[in-house]
Amino acid sequence: MSVMEGPTRPDGTPIDKEAVRRRYLEERDKRLRADGNAQYVRLAGGPFAHYLDDPHTPSVEREPRADHVTVAFIGGGFAGLVTGARLKEAGVDDVRIVEKGGDFGGTWYWNRYPGAQCDTASMVYMPLLEETGHMPTEKYAHGPEILEYCRRIATRFGLHDGALFHTEVTDLSWDDDASRWVVSTNRGDRFTAQFVAMGIGPLHVAKLPGIPGIADFAGHSFHTSRWDYAYTGGDHLGAPMDRLADKRVAIIGTGATAVQAVPHLARACRELLVFQRTPSSIDVRDNGPIDPEWFAGIATPGWQQRWLDNFTLNQAGGTADVDLVMDGWTEISRRMRSKFSALPREERTPLAMLAAFEDADVEKMEQIRARVDAVVADPATAEHLKAWYRQLCKRPCFHDEYLQAYNEPGVRLVDTDGRGVERITERGVVANGVEHEVDLIIYASGFEVGTEWTRRAGYEVTGRGGVRISDYWAEGMRTLHGLHVHGFPNMFVVQPTQAANLISNVPSNLTDHGRTVAAVVAHALERGAAEVESTKEAENAWGELLLTGPGRMMAGALDCTPGYYNNEGQDPGPRARLNVGHPHGPAAYFAYIDKWRRAGTFEGLEFR
Ligand code: NDP
Repeated sequence: MSVMEGPTRPDGTPIDKEAVRRRYLEERDKRLRADGNAQYVRLAGGPFAHYLDDPHTPSVEREPRADHVTVAFIGGGFAGLVTGARLKEAGVDDVRIVEKGGDFGGTWYWNRYPGAQCDTASMVYMPLLEETGHMPTEKYAHGPEILEYCRRIATRFGLHDGALFHTEVTDLSWDDDASRWVVSTNRGDRFTAQFVAMGIGPLHVAKLPGIPGIADFAGHSFHTSRWDYAYTGGDHLGAPMDRLADKRVAIIGTGATAVQAVPHLARACRELLVFQRTPSSIDVRDNGPIDPEWFAGIATPGWQQRWLDNFTLNQAGGTADVDLVMDGWTEISRRMRSKFSALPREERTPLAMLAAFEDADVEKMEQIRARVDAVVADPATAEHLKAWYRQLCKRPCFHDEYLQAYNEPGVRLVDTDGRGVERITERGVVANGVEHEVDLIIYASGFEVGTEWTRRAGYEVTGRGGVRISDYWAEGMRTLHGLHVHGFPNMFVVQPTQAANLISNVPSNLTDHGRTVAAVVAHALERGAAEVESTKEAENAWGELLLTGPGRMMAGALDCTPGYYNNEGQDPGPRARLNVGHPHGPAAYFAYIDKWRRAGTFEGLEFR
């Protein structure tokens, strides 16, 4: 079949692409709003500060630190764990991880809502599986296993030693005379570090809808990232929430978190009202246990890197002979490739590629919408649960119990036709002009994205000559390889942007950066270099290279329905041009950086 024939359904009937496009725009327009990111209020501070208390681990008194370490790492999630592990492997023993939670785990420490599960296959999502000898129990592991696994990495690599939990960095300042960083925290610490690295996570500052009346609610409420099992009963390991049997519960938001939590709430509550502004696209999950015999067969030396390379190639535009992971993420690219490669060679232009992408997407979304009709018994509810946008406009979801939950007698979808909840009253939630009285409101309203980096980090970074990173990045992020920043010596930013930018599997970006950090730090220590810093020329050249790419594709598209992928539908300005990855994609970045590391000359960095 050629792309020119347009998208079709599985039975071969054509799909009216123009009508689909029109519907997408209509639905987007309903949701566009002038206030963009400003529609949300942050949880940190203010009247909702208590929402952020750590329900999992009591805080322990300790003396403030005023000593010196070789490496300080800010954040004890996957970034800190994998970088710490690689540093230890490289013989750098003196690593101090500073973490605001009470233990390792990052997002998995905080997000213990019922049903929490990784959406990327465990074999590629869980880092360092080969090093730890862990076999994931399921194709998509659940939260408790991942949290336990985080602790396992920490134990295996001795990262608990010296870690500071329940500690938030408040300031990072470079001391030019001593060639050291001064790290200040909210626990009164003021210690120095030769190197600092930070992995603060992309989605860690919880936000609430900025609707009137939130503070007036007289019942109970919490954000999904601080699930209150003391109120709901049950626990994050899966014990049923036995205190909800007589409760009327509202959940606000239908993103990836709500999709996983709703089936569990549906089973537990007397009545569950799901307040929806925009439906998520819900594709098949098809989870299952991992067979130890099968695993023993494939887990030969180098297995995880092979799987990672294969997933990256299949998911992000490349080609591989086999698809080891075979899931919804790799299917997105598989569909596009098969359409494109069906074209005669001379017709394979960039425009044809975009058309192939769109046709594959229309077909996929029609299939996802048809699944809603097939699963949800009530036709009106089914209609409201259909996602009218391209699959990558919003975070794609995969679940085999979410849509089914709407067939439970106590579950009701309150669709707001894109307008969202209007207000909260003392008694409950107002939507479409109707007040719904409830006992509990659960905010599944997500996390800050697109705000200032320092605002989300919670601290300023002051580099050489008193330059603040908030000023240095005022016109957009500037890095070499997404990791080093000129003017901020001995500092590493462990995150995906301006590097591989493989969003479908964030940990693999972090693991790779961890390898680079360890290689650079070990090299500096071996040479007795006090400082290592990216040159201005190298950083500029990297920025220019990034801008030669196709730009932000779907994730930044303003014709998408609003969400955090596209800055809530508002033009993010020229700064966002730099929120991209390697111009030739993740696989190209990983290959490039592997070669760069192996060369051992660390081109673009200056050691002194
Ligand atoms: P999201 O930001 O994805 O979802 C927030 C939800 O709140 C949206 O449905 C949003 O609607 C809704 N909302 C906001 N304001 C209002 C309002 N006034 N009235 C009604 N609804 C409102 O947050 P999540 O916590 O669900 O997910 C965040 C991200 O975390 C995911 O995208 C994913 O990257 C990650 N995650 C990953 C998981 C995994 O890998 N397994 C699981 C869970 C999360 P609208 O869409 O209209 O803005």
